[in-house]
Amino acid sequence: MVQFVGFLLLTFGAAFASYSSYNNQRAEEESHWSYDDQNDWPELCNSGTRQSPIDIRTPSIEQSHFSPFIFSGYSERFFADVTNTGHTVRINLRNDSKVPTVEEGGLPGTYALDSVHFHWNSEHTINGRRYPAELHAVHYDVKYGNVDNAITHENGVAVFAILFEISSEDNENFNPIMPVIDEVDDTVGMTARTDQRFSPNIFFPRDTSGYYRYIGSLTTPDCNEGVIWTIFRNVLRISESQVSYFTNIQSETGLLTENYRTLQAVNNRPVYENISPLPKIHQRLVY
Ligand SMILES: [Zn+2]
Repeated sequence: MVQFVGFLLLTFGAAFASYSSYNNQRAEEESHWSYDDQNDWPELCNSGTRQSPIDIRTPSIEQSHFSPFIFSGYSERFFADVTNTGHTVRINLRNDSKVPTVEEGGLPGTYALDSVHFHWNSEHTINGRRYPAELHAVHYDVKYGNVDNAITHENGVAVFAILFEISSEDNENFNPIMPVIDEVDDTVGMTARTDQRFSPNIFFPRDTSGYYRYIGSLTTPDCNEGVIWTIFRNVLRISESQVSYFTNIQSETGLLTENYRTLQAVNNRPVYENISPLPKIHQRLVY
């Protein structure tokens, strides 16, 4: 039954939105590696010197004063496609016209939101502490047109990472998404659409002024380097029962009970902590 519904959704997607079929194709391409064989990931994943994720050690951090982020379009409301890639749950906004963009915050250009996905447990750790989940909002420099082109350029991709802490209450902002994860969790490559619109600012903490910054890589093959990482100091909250939507995802080899890459060497890379120079009232720029 789930597969039949999936067939209908895929057919609908192919007929009405080339964006969906592009996502399905991308999910297919991603499917031939696993978290169980990280030593067998392609060359750069093992030979690279600027890999992610890392443990952020705050005692040895350098302070910086980047200008505040300017987020545009993150409070607009979108439907979204939710895909089980076999390695994560990926969310693509159905944004035919306006793509949310972000600039400043030490970024060398204007970056458009490509997609959001999740890791459980977190990939980055702070002073050795691993969080129950981590969200990655993947952005590309608009001058490169799309994320696949941007990743071949230094600073072409900027990923915003948000860590989660467990709370006893559900995070209701995720209500439009969780039931859709349930629709795709059994089938690798399956995509379903939210039946409610939501704003991508649900993926960000309210206060985005404090964050860690370093240059690293994608945390999945091919582990391309030159990625600008921003890890917000403020966390989002999620309940245990919401995390269980993630841990019910099926991969090609069974239940995807966790999907984080092992920590990588920092190798003398500078890691910055942004301290905002502005008073609090100017810092709530996502909303
Ligand atoms: Zn990720």
